[in-house]
This record gives sequence, structure tokens and C-alpha cells, in this order.
Amino acid sequence: MAIKLPIYMDNHATTPVDPRVVDAMLPYFTEKFGNAASRNHAFGWAGEEAVENARAQIAQLIGATPKEIVFTSGATESDNLAIKGVAEMYREKGNHIITQVTEHKAVLDTCKRLEKEGYEVTYLPVEKSGQINLDDLRRAITPKTILISIMYANNEIGVIQPIAEIGKIAKEKGVFFHSDGVQAVGKVPVDVQKDGIDLLSISAHKLYGPKGVGALYVRRKNPRVQLTAMVDGGGHERGMRSGTLNVPGIVGFGKACELCRLEMAEETKKLSALRDRLRGAIMSKLDETFINGTMEHHLPHNINISFAYVEGESLLMGINDVAVSSGSACTSATLEPSYVLKALGVGEDLAHTSIRFGIGRFNTEEEVDYVANRVVETVNRLRELSPLYEMAKEGTDVSKMNWKTA
Ligand SMILES: *Cc1c(COP(=O)(O)O)cnc(C)c1O
Repeated sequence: MAIKLPIYMDNHATTPVDPRVVDAMLPYFTEKFGNAASRNHAFGWAGEEAVENARAQIAQLIGATPKEIVFTSGATESDNLAIKGVAEMYREKGNHIITQVTEHKAVLDTCKRLEKEGYEVTYLPVEKSGQINLDDLRRAITPKTILISIMYANNEIGVIQPIAEIGKIAKEKGVFFHSDGVQAVGKVPVDVQKDGIDLLSISAHKLYGPKGVGALYVRRKNPRVQLTAMVDGGGHERGMRSGTLNVPGIVGFGKACELCRLEMAEETKKLSALRDRLRGAIMSKLDETFINGTMEHHLPHNINISFAYVEGESLLMGINDVAVSSGSACTSATLEPSYVLKALGVGEDLAHTSIRFGIGRFNTEEEVDYVANRVVETVNRLRELSPLYEMAKEGTDVSKMNWKTA
């Protein structure tokens, strides 16, 4: 079969909507368009029934009960609601929050905002593996700590944090535990009971559902978590998030979660085989390439690789018929290396030449082989032009060279 270009391999940024999800959503734009909050007629009841069905599908995927699911516009809002909602509600109890340096900006920027408002935030470092150190976490907890927010799995390097251990520590200390579960839910087994999670952020568009809809799991007992609402107006979602519900989006979100639950075991096998095929094809043909983050605690569909002795931008240009993400973030005029890779101790040069491969449900073996070939060809071609690579091959320790600029 001929390969269709460009190839999409950036499934941590977003995923295509599964056609089965689209089919489930369609009636809710047209004949079943009712407002789920309309209590007086069949149109409203149909909307409400669909929403409650989706709530149950989402709850089942994460081991929660339907009443613990609060719908939002996406995980950015869920992260905001979890962190700011706890911070405001429990201000009397304490003003200290613990998070870590490789969180998504939805968590980091929310914490920064709270710092401006007088809260104290501890940003735990990560080890070279990408995981936090649990002793660091224990030491950071004070009587003023009200919340620990640590992501389930990282969106750049795919590293999974020791979530159940963190949940245990939080419980021992009587501190709420929020986790940004966007990259993990639907991909690996997540269970809010076993993992001891009190608040969990989820997004539909990262698990083959539509954009613009997400959820926050809010634990109702052992312990019960209360939140100050961020959006007022009508008291939807048990007062935690007002606003007319996005019924078609929610229906799609529910269906997407059901598919993930039913197919996760098979899909994990398929995706990790594709990922290992990609890894093998690249790493067996190229030296001086490095995997970022431990592969031991890792999402099945992710790999993040740095290629020494090439230039990041040239590398991306060389594989421009493949959609992937790089370890550089364009901030205004300059290219900044990824803060996640920096936190792992990856040097600036290697951070700029890193590529995040996010394999998804609809990728094929042929596509993986094509991508691997393109990467190998491009890196080899760029290295042929690199005097540094040549010197390194001749045995000069390039890192110890004394650079002089004229
Ligand atoms: C994508 C992502 C988000 C943001 O989710 P949206 O639904 O797009 O707002 C938050 N956290 C992580 C880890 C993500 O990957």
C-alpha cells in the first residue's frame, strides 16, 4: 500500500477523532440537540441521558463513580480548577502547594499565578530518569501543604511518575493529590483508587475524542474534596463548573473512553511493538543518539531521542513530510531548548536536536519504517557535513575543545 504523506506521528499534541467516535457524536448536533439542563421536555432529557451515559463511560475508565466526574472545556481548565479550586477552598488550612519542574504549562503557569497571590509553591526537581525523588517529596511536605500536583506521564518524554507511591505519601500526610492524567488516561491503566488520586485531569482530544472537552475527577469520599468554582452561573456540574454542557463533545469523549477501555490491552501491544520497531531501526543504524528519560516507566507509544552532531532545525527540515515535535520551543524570536529536557540535565545542543515521536492508533508499520528511514538518511547526510562529527569520530573529545571566536 502506498504511504500517504505527510505522516502524523505527533499524538501527544492531539489525536485524530476515531470515526466510531464521530458516528456517536453526530446525532447530538442535529435531531438530539437538546440542552442537557432543560428539565421540562424530551429534548432536554435526551441530552441529559447522553451526558450521564458518557459520565459513566469516563468514570469506568479510571475506576471512579459517575458523580465524581466534572466536565470542563479541556485539561487546561481541569488543571486550573483543581489547583486554584483547592487553593481557594483550603486557604485557611494552608497556602503551600508542591509540584515538579516538568509539568505541563497548564499546571506550572497556574502555580505561578497562585504565587503572585501569596501562595507558596515548591517545584521538585526530577532525576535524569525524568521521575521525581520520593524522599524529596516527603521532605517538602509541611503542615501548611494542601496539595501535591504531579503529572501521571510526561507529554514530551513519556516518563510515568511513581503515582501510587505519591498517592500513598499524600494520604499519610493528609494532603490532596492532583494528577494531570492527560497523557496516561486511555493509554495505560489508571485507577484513582489504586493510585490514591484525589483529583485527575483528562482531555478528550488526547485519546481520540474531540477538542474542547475535558473532565476533572473530584474524589467524593476518603477524603471528600471540595473546590471553589472558577466559573459561576447556573450551578451546573454540582456547582463546580457552570455553563451549558457541550453535549456532542461529551458524548464523543465518553465513547472515546469506552473504546480505550475495551481496546487498551491490544492497542498497547501494537503501539509498543511499533515504538520498539522505530527505536530499533533508528538506534541500530546511528551512533551518538540518546533516549531522553527512562524507558522503564514509560508510555507505550512514546520515544524521545536526541541526535548529536546535527543541527535541530536542519534535522526537522530534512524530515518535513513527517509530523513530529522537537525539543525546541519557539518563544518570540529565539529558539529555547525544552524546559523538560533541561530539567533532565540534557545539554542545550542535544535538547535542540531531540525529536518526540508519538505513535498513535492509526499509524502503521509501513509508516514507522518510512519515518525511521527518513530520520537515518537525514542524520547521516547532516553529519557528513559536520566537522565536529568527523573530529569526534577521529577521537577528539569535542566537549573539551577550546573554542576561540575571532
Ligand atoms: C495537552 C495537555 C494538556 C492540555 O489539555 P487541553 O485539553 O488541550 O487543554 C494538559 N496537560 C498535558 C500533560 C497535556 O499533554
